[in-house]
Amino acid sequence: MGTEQNKWTKTSWKNFTALQQPKWPDMTAHDAVLERLSTLPPLVFAGEIRDLKALLAKAVTGDAFLVQGGDCSEDFSQVTAPNIREKLRVLLQMAVVLTYAGGKPVIKLGRIAGQFAKPRSADTEMVDGVELMSYRGDMVNSSEPLAAARIPDPNRMLEGYYMAASTLNLLRAFTRGGFAALHRVSAWNQEFVKQSPMGRSYERLGKQIQQALQFMETIGIDSNSPQMKQAQFFTSHEALLLGYETALTREDSTRGGWYDCSAHMLWIGERTRQVDGAHVEFLRGVNNPIGVKIGPDYDLDNVKQLIETLNPENEAGRLTLITRLGMKNIEKVLPPLLREAKREGYNIVWSCDPMHANTYTAKSGHKTRNFNDILSEITCFFETHWAEGTIPGGIHLEMTGNNVTECTGGARNIVDEELMNNYLTTCDPRLNAEQSLEVAFQIADMIRS
Ligand code: PEP
Ligand code: MN
Repeated sequence: MGTEQNKWTKTSWKNFTALQQPKWPDMTAHDAVLERLSTLPPLVFAGEIRDLKALLAKAVTGDAFLVQGGDCSEDFSQVTAPNIREKLRVLLQMAVVLTYAGGKPVIKLGRIAGQFAKPRSADTEMVDGVELMSYRGDMVNSSEPLAAARIPDPNRMLEGYYMAASTLNLLRAFTRGGFAALHRVSAWNQEFVKQSPMGRSYERLGKQIQQALQFMETIGIDSNSPQMKQAQFFTSHEALLLGYETALTREDSTRGGWYDCSAHMLWIGERTRQVDGAHVEFLRGVNNPIGVKIGPDYDLDNVKQLIETLNPENEAGRLTLITRLGMKNIEKVLPPLLREAKREGYNIVWSCDPMHANTYTAKSGHKTRNFNDILSEITCFFETHWAEGTIPGGIHLEMTGNNVTECTGGARNIVDEELMNNYLTTCDPRLNAEQSLEVAFQIADMIRS
């Protein structure tokens, strides 16, 4: 980039406007936390980050498919072994369904182990007639509806780091220690899912895979290789709190270059993707794969500037554009974006977030999303890419492994009146395990035909 003025350092973002940052009440305490964080070990390693980038490069050309999913906002109190296991289990199930149907590797990327900070549309919200500071994720304040609980506390960043570390520790144990072995494909089906139509379809698929493994063993092919016994699993979150991200940014001791070691992939949200903003400035300089959310009101020239700023070398796997356009808009607003990107020859992983532009408030007051709307956006995403000759490379979902009632519809047809039964999210509504599996089967049907 040349001139002194646009030389990147891990703190050059401080010369730009950073939107959506909490108003920390005590900057001395805040800076002390960041100082401590900058001495703590990295959560992920440069080599792993490069592995993910190489896999994403395959998704650019349609030789791999990305499944990215997890909570809208991870909740410290929900960082438990069963919750982590169930989330992993559903992602593994979805990956198996899609690998089997698509005949190509599925990249498993959790919105997990660090998805603790949220952008909000307003600084305050009304709760039972009282104006409170908005909840900004567990790394900033508490979702409890009390004025004192909503004051940003920098110690929460340190707590978030340790939560991420223990989550990653368990994920590494599960994915390397046998839980994710393909032989156990049927065991990933959860009890409450088993009885559903999706659960039964999954049982059948699991049996077919087990038969294939047995056949391999019979003819003497080793089905105990690491590919069969282990899963590669990666982490991601929205890079929102730039102080935290900077503290976890390290220079690779083997090859040089800067990596944000808080997660393998980081994305920039729809609200903080200004080309001249601090988030873009920070992320342009780290070597991680980067995602950018693109909403329905995007400006084409602006998106092109973003692409060229974040991926000036047009490196495949570096940039994932996560379109979240809404089922009503996608048919109209996706094609011009794809045409221009194709004309320019940009290497992009195109991923579909069918959640964020399909949110509505139910009569009961719950923020929700309807399964059919989600599916409509996904279907239109695939069909538009196929029509334009571009590659639908992945899916980005807000989901959980638990049996929540946050999104309406699906095979069990959750209705508005049932949302209250098990509505647990602190932020946006998530697909439950069964609805997530159903999405995978629906995509499987599309990519098979
Ligand atoms: C999110 O992914 O939770 C989010 C806030 O998305 P977006 O930036 O697309 O609104
Ligand atoms: Mn969300």
